Order: sequence, then structure tokens, then C-alpha cells
Amino acid sequence: MGKVVVIGSYVADLMSRAPHLPKPGETVLGGPFQMGPGGKGGNQAAAAARSGSNVTFVTKVGNDLFGKNAIEHFEKEQFNTQFVKVADDEATGAALIAVDNHGENHIVIAPGACGTMTSEDVLEADGAIKDGDIVVLQLEISLSAVKTAMERAVIHNVPVLLNPAPYQEFPRELLRHVTYATPNEMEASELTGSDVTDEESAQKAANTLHELGVKIVIITLGRKGVFLSEGVSSGKIVPAFQVDAVDTTGAGDAFNGGFAHAISSGQSLEDAVQFGQAAAALSVMKAGTALSMPQADEIKTFLS
Ligand code: ADP
Repeated sequence: MGKVVVIGSYVADLMSRAPHLPKPGETVLGGPFQMGPGGKGGNQAAAAARSGSNVTFVTKVGNDLFGKNAIEHFEKEQFNTQFVKVADDEATGAALIAVDNHGENHIVIAPGACGTMTSEDVLEADGAIKDGDIVVLQLEISLSAVKTAMERAVIHNVPVLLNPAPYQEFPRELLRHVTYATPNEMEASELTGSDVTDEESAQKAANTLHELGVKIVIITLGRKGVFLSEGVSSGKIVPAFQVDAVDTTGAGDAFNGGFAHAISSGQSLEDAVQFGQAAAALSVMKAGTALSMPQADEIKTFLS
């Protein structure tokens, strides 16, 4: 069983559908209210745990109702919660999501407690990082916390997976610490300053990332699959599984969690990519994010 350490965000997703998205100043009557666990860190942790890994989740929630719900959810998903901090002076993060009849959305993320995670919070989890088989990071928490997590992982010789989402500017020298970078097309374009639209431009972006020190580049291409590159000009597209998608929110999180599980439990790179894509394909067939992540037996059946 792989030991996956996810250091990242948790927010409560608060969602309603409406016939159209409100214009500035407008109030729109929506459909039923839905609430569920979210945040890229929490979603990727759920995907890895359901895939079969032993997951330690390092995050911060508030001392409030959403924080209590979060901890219940973490326990249900069997995360090690030793490094989940409860802040007394910050609310649990929340994402306010409105979706219209065409699937367009407006999202406001209030990071709350997880937005206040510091390098010190990460250093407290140093023992877990040292003991891990992979450290999984995104860009929804402070860059100083991300940087410390990378540096500790490198010191302990533990591979680092960086899902650079949502994209924010960060010092490029951090990329030399990254074993697996998993941007989507848009994030790969922003990271490298060159548009990723097809196989050739994906290789160009991957080359830039290799030159900056990333060992393995995996650019996720939505329903087209992933562009997998292990070195300058050596990449190829690995197609996605063809399924009827209902809700593609969280597809990237399912991929990252599934991939982190598979690679850290000793699967080959190609098999781990297929495992991640299977987890993502199963997740897009259901509505929701963390709660739409598939279980290990569903993935096994899907791949057999
Ligand atoms: P993100 O959610 O971060 O934008 P992508 O949309 O690139 O990420 O999706 C991540 C992975 O999820 C893809 O590489 C693919 O394997 C899978 N995926 C996404 N959309 C679909 C789809 N419609 N059908 C099958 N697989 C999908």
C-alpha cells in the first residue's frame, strides 16, 4: 500500500443551479442547495485513499460547523488526520458555486483557514513526509507552504507530484524539485508561456518544463487523455477512456489522486497513468467532486 502525503486545501463546496447566472446586482432563484467536501487537496486525498493508499492529509480547517463536517469526512475516508489543524480565528474555507442550465459556472473561493497554512504547519508534518512514498501538492495554499513541502520531500528523497492548479505565479526554480508535474492544457500554457493546443505544442511545453528540472511531465488534455513526457522530445499522447461524461468537475483531482496511489505503490509509469485515467473516467460518470471519486474495486473492474 502506497503512503501518500497530500498537503493542500480543504473547502466546503456550497452549490446551487439556477436558470441563468446572476448579473451584478441581480438575485436569481436557484434549485436545491447542495453541500459537499471540496478543495483540490481534499479531493486528491479522497481519490488516493479510495484507490487504496494510506493517505496523510495536511490541511487546516476552522473551529466551526464546516470544520466539524470536514473532520467527519476525513475520518470516513480513512485519512490520517494527525496533521489536520483546527484554527480558532479562521473560518473553514468555502467555495460558493452557481451553475446555470448550460453547465457554465461562477465560483468564489473563500480559502479561510487553509489559506493561512504556513511553512511551520508543514514542518510539523515532516515525519509524515519522511515516511511517505510521494508528496502531492497543488497551488491552493500559500507558496511558502508549498516550497517548504517540496524542500522537505527532496531532503528525505521522497518524490514530489505538483499539480500546478489553480495556476498562480511562482518561482520557476521550484520546478527542479518536481518529479511529476501534472498541469492541464491551460496551466501548461501559463507555466511555459506557450499555448498548448495539440501534440506538438504539448511537447514544446513539456520540453520547457524538463529544462527547468521536472523529471516527468503529464499534461492532462480532458477527454483526449494525457500527454506523457519522460524527457526532452520523447512524449506521446495516452488516450483517455471513452465514457459518457455527466460532470467533469474534479476530473483532474481524480487523475492526480489515482496516479499518486498507483505510482507510489510500485506500478510502472504507464500503468499508473492508466490507473489515474481510469479513476478520472469513473469520476466524470458521476456528479460531484470528492464524493464522486471511485473506489479501488470499481477501478479494478473498469481496467480488467
Ligand atoms: P482538469 O479537471 O484539471 O482540467 P482534465 O480536464 O484535463 O483536468 O482531466 C483530467 C483527466 O481526466 C484527463 O486526462 C482524462 O484522463 C480524464 N477525463 C477528463 N474528461 C474526460 C471525459 N470527458 N471522458 C473521459 N475521461 C476524461
